[in-house]
Amino acid sequence: DPQRPAVLAVMKLPPFFLEPLRAHFTVHDRLHETNPEEFARVAPTIRAVTGGGDSQVPRALMDKLPALEMVSIMGVGYDKVDVPAAKERGIPVTHTPDVLNDEVADLALALMLSIARKVPQADRYVREGRWEQGNMPLATRMSGKRLGIVGLGRIGKAIAARAQGFGMSIAYTGRTQQSGVAFPYHPSAKALAAAVDFLVVITPGGEATRRMINAEVLQALGPKGYLVNVARGSVVDEQALIEALQDGVIAGAGLDVFENEPQVPAALRALDNVVLTPHMASATHETRQAMADLALANLQAHFAGKPLLSPVPECR
Ligand code: NDP
Repeated sequence: DPQRPAVLAVMKLPPFFLEPLRAHFTVHDRLHETNPEEFARVAPTIRAVTGGGDSQVPRALMDKLPALEMVSIMGVGYDKVDVPAAKERGIPVTHTPDVLNDEVADLALALMLSIARKVPQADRYVREGRWEQGNMPLATRMSGKRLGIVGLGRIGKAIAARAQGFGMSIAYTGRTQQSGVAFPYHPSAKALAAAVDFLVVITPGGEATRRMINAEVLQALGPKGYLVNVARGSVVDEQALIEALQDGVIAGAGLDVFENEPQVPAALRALDNVVLTPHMASATHETRQAMADLALANLQAHFAGKPLLSPVPECR
């Protein structure tokens, strides 16, 4: 149908995105992975690519799509999209910022509370009938403690607002000190880690932040410190983290993201001082719907010749 532009979905899309997408577009669902011959046949017609926040859109894929006009990501992170390659061809990339800030911030606080107050451990304690043998060991207070935010952006600021409700003091790091932000700034993750009880990582992924949270940063966080990562697995040196957790270099960690998802190292799963969630910080009905709506609205805007709602900063 020439009235309905062809779109390649590079990841499995939820029905509340796929169905409205199909009403306006001809959707080729992961054809590049499932049916190379059919993909080669339709590739010249594909005018847009879409997928979730972890979508792989490398240069090699774009090279196979001569008619590609835009990439619409349903997620705020786009570290696996080769934006420079897209820009060379004048192909805009869009994402879904802001609509997920509350959800991701809520999960960050949930992980902080879970690891300090041992909520999952306590649940296991009751289920396994251990309460009848005596009370569980004491947990650690979170209210009033010091929080360090690595990446005080849209989501980082939503985390700060919540943490203030818990009477926490807040400090942050990033590439630059932000004017108009009263929280103390530290020039590096290591300096910030040394000054706080909870270190929450919420930067973008990609090369610039790769393994920014390394053994030295964990050493600085110290034996009473907790690490929470809701950013990308690539930001934390996972092997160094496992060793720090095993050796008591830090007290514990709450992790929503991992280096090699959905693979989580057995050594990490074996530890009791970690709380692990399956990259679900934005995964509520309400927020995933809002993300899908915005990803679709960007596609529709493009093909209607209207301004894009939320291009990534590099494409503005
Ligand atoms: P923003 O761009 O608003 O904020 C990112 C922050 O990180 C900024 O404060 C920026 O500050 C800082 N930052 C960027 N690059 C660097 C760097 N190289 N070193 C240190 N700090 C850096 O993004 P959002 O808050 O909207 O989202 C942040 C990330 O959270 C996303 O990119 C995504 O990867 C992740 N995320 C994870 C989810 C999950 O499911 N777990 C869900 C949603 C998002 P400055 O510019 O001053 O350096």
